[in-house]
Amino acid sequence: MDTIVLKFGGSSVADNEKLKIVAKKIIDLYEKHHNIVVVVSAQGKTTDKLILEAKEISEKAEDRELDVLLSTGEQISTAKLSILLNKLGYPSISLTGWQAGICTNNTNQNAIIECIDTSRIKKELEKGKIVIVAGFQGINENLDITTLGRGGSDTTAVAIASALNAKNCYIFSDVDGVYTTDPNILENAKKLSALSYEEMIALSSEGAKVLHNRCIEIGEKFKVPIITKSTFNNKSGTVISDIIEENTIKSIVKKDVSRISIVGNGIIRNIESIKVILDKIEKNKLEMLEFSVSESKISITFKNQVTDEILKEIHEDLRITQ
Ligand code: ADP
Ligand code: ASP
Ligand code: MG
Repeated sequence: MDTIVLKFGGSSVADNEKLKIVAKKIIDLYEKHHNIVVVVSAQGKTTDKLILEAKEISEKAEDRELDVLLSTGEQISTAKLSILLNKLGYPSISLTGWQAGICTNNTNQNAIIECIDTSRIKKELEKGKIVIVAGFQGINENLDITTLGRGGSDTTAVAIASALNAKNCYIFSDVDGVYTTDPNILENAKKLSALSYEEMIALSSEGAKVLHNRCIEIGEKFKVPIITKSTFNNKSGTVISDIIEENTIKSIVKKDVSRISIVGNGIIRNIESIKVILDKIEKNKLEMLEFSVSESKISITFKNQVTDEILKEIHEDLRITQ
């Protein structure tokens, strides 16, 4: 039987109604006889709220204690989802990061997964259970709780998928895939059907928060296809895998206020596109501080602020299509 890993982000598990939608998605796949491991984030803005609350108590909250606190958000989601699935008649069990065997290094708030002991997950799957794992957390060599950095539940999901040799890792979110630019900034952004790992790493490292940077590196290393989909519709998503298309511009991302990156395999040889970008910079009298080109990414840091209007114009002029 195939094993698949499903990850649901904070907006997908924000309240009881949304948890019901998530449970239905899980049940549909479970009934197709998959072994299912689910990774969940904290509900809605819980992590932000916990950070704020800690800061209210002390500006110098210890990193270790912050991790103990932040890891609770994901645990709430796992327990609620498991209670719901059990009530609906589908056997399930919630596991914290450490119960799921996730070992990390000692870097609080930005820990790196070093190994996963999958024995408990496998034992529960063998019993026919849907296994629900708290994302974003693990345990270090001192048996202290660590967290993986903001957005880190994606990395938990792909790391578990790699360790279990899963067929696919599905990342369910409030968007139905990876777009040519953030669809919440430009409404004419288009959904991409596929991206290579390298292209997605370039996008995430430049700030496209749709996927946690490190999860794609793990996916690439262990050859796990990552599929991003929406929790709230059944449209096809975006597949991130090692299939590489030559010479297509895929996506634009803005980082902070003054840096943009244009991503697409072979962009270094796409003279026409480089010209379009330079023309736009000249027309808008933007002052460049840094311009770098690599195989799949052009990044430009400006002295000025890059408005969403300029981003929109570059997006249109490059005619990113799929
Ligand atoms: P989750 O809570 O499910 O982990 P995130 O908020 O981390 O979801 O990521 C989804 C968000 O990523 C979207 O709402 C969107 O605003 C943002 N995003 C940024 N760049 C892109 C892009 N190129 N394609 C899709 N979404 C993007
Ligand atoms: N809850 C954590 C965060 O808000 C991890 C995650 O959502 O992936 O960053
Ligand atoms: Mg996220």
